[in-house]
Amino acid sequence: MGKTIIISNRLPVQLQISNGSITAVPSVGGLATGMKSVHSGSDSVWIGWSGLTDEEIPEELVPKIDKALAEHGSSKVNLTKEEVEGFYFGFSNRTIWPLFHYFLEYSEFELDSWTTYKAVNQKFADAILEKAEDDDIIWVHDYQLMLVPQMVREKRPNISIGFFLHIPFPSFEIFRTLPWREEILRGLLGSDLIGFHIYDYERHFLSSVRRLLGLEVSFNEIYLDNRVIKVDSFPMGIDYKKFSDAAKEHSQKPASQQSELQQRLNTHKQSDPEAKFFLSIDRLDYSKGIAKRLYAFEYFLNKYPQYKEKVRLIILAVPSRSNVPQYQLLKREIDELVGRINGEFSTVSWTPIWYFYRSMPFDNLIDLYTSSDIAWLTPLRDGMNLVAKEYIATRTDKTGVLILSEMAGSANEMNEALLINPNNFEQIADALYEAINMPKEEQQARNELLQNRLERYNVEKWANSFMTSLKAQKERDAENI
Ligand code: UDP
Repeated sequence: MGKTIIISNRLPVQLQISNGSITAVPSVGGLATGMKSVHSGSDSVWIGWSGLTDEEIPEELVPKIDKALAEHGSSKVNLTKEEVEGFYFGFSNRTIWPLFHYFLEYSEFELDSWTTYKAVNQKFADAILEKAEDDDIIWVHDYQLMLVPQMVREKRPNISIGFFLHIPFPSFEIFRTLPWREEILRGLLGSDLIGFHIYDYERHFLSSVRRLLGLEVSFNEIYLDNRVIKVDSFPMGIDYKKFSDAAKEHSQKPASQQSELQQRLNTHKQSDPEAKFFLSIDRLDYSKGIAKRLYAFEYFLNKYPQYKEKVRLIILAVPSRSNVPQYQLLKREIDELVGRINGEFSTVSWTPIWYFYRSMPFDNLIDLYTSSDIAWLTPLRDGMNLVAKEYIATRTDKTGVLILSEMAGSANEMNEALLINPNNFEQIADALYEAINMPKEEQQARNELLQNRLERYNVEKWANSFMTSLKAQKERDAENI
């Protein structure tokens, strides 16, 4: 077996340039953590964009940058500002992202950005081909790189290629509206194994392959020329231990060592021990249903007025893609809604919504998770939703209620949560009422089951099971030759 080549839009390290010196800081995100066991030692390399365009990198620093990245087993693909515009902000985030999240009306079908998407995918494929040997294993990640598997396959017919999609794959009726639908499917079919978070996305993909390409599909296998392509689901987990350990440590900290945020939260808790904190954490993205959640909160306060002055909604909205117009409009809508609802319901001693538009450091996330009685996550569509899993992992004493949209991939594994339809305000208001009044023993019984499952299927398990399946597929192919 040769080396492993991982490829994703962004590298798992952040470059920092100051006064001519370069530092490469490893990212702490879920993907980077999960891939640790796959991306370790000298027999693996991670290829991706560094986050800096060619225009932002002074020519003389290139060797230093390459060296800094190589120390982290990484190698960069160079992109110009125009390429990032067309490929990333254009086709990836204005065409595929809305379409795959069922926001058909937001999807732009621009030939120019499609052309750039193809050219940039070719750049990534070329970067792989430069390093790849026939016995290597290649793992391509996500919707920005859907053409890469076939581009590599053309030049290396026998190499092993896996692809994992981190967002939903939409139903055929949605997918068929894409002008370049066949090309995208053919691009993906260059893989030996195609992974999705849940069976529904897998099913949608198989149906599109059958109906648009007329290929033979049997259970979860696709027959193309003389190859068999396997399609399967691998629900992504979290670094469970990291979150549960951080929460345990947090619970043992003396008050004097707690963060300022935690101390403020404590003050509010102490002033009214019966009051409840609802928590919502998402990137500020239209797929997350933040505006709907605010309307639902207003609906709840009107339906159950006894909870005025008794509940607080903490909204952490993390800035995201703020140069895409829909995101700017959404930001304005949420700002206005928060202002209007707070204006309508606030009293001298109570502000119903605390709204943070920023990203918070890990320790503050733990403060929020551990201090909130109810996590309320209502995406209109979400590939997985890791925040739901992180909240449960931090509940050291097993209390806490998770209210989760059934449109999130994670709902499939989290049946013990209160699952709701994010468009059904009546149901949401009743779920909030139920969550507030749920006996402690019931909370603990539900969370115990959830925690055991999340601990077992952590992110490392996810990465390993994908790799095991990809290797098995290769061995099977070898036997058939
Ligand atoms: N997160 C973060 N900083 C913040 C808020 C959230 O790093 O200020 C993290 C959070 O811990 C989670 C991720 O962002 O791991 C969000 O993942 P999720 O799957 O819920 O949604 P996505 O943003 O990938 O659509």
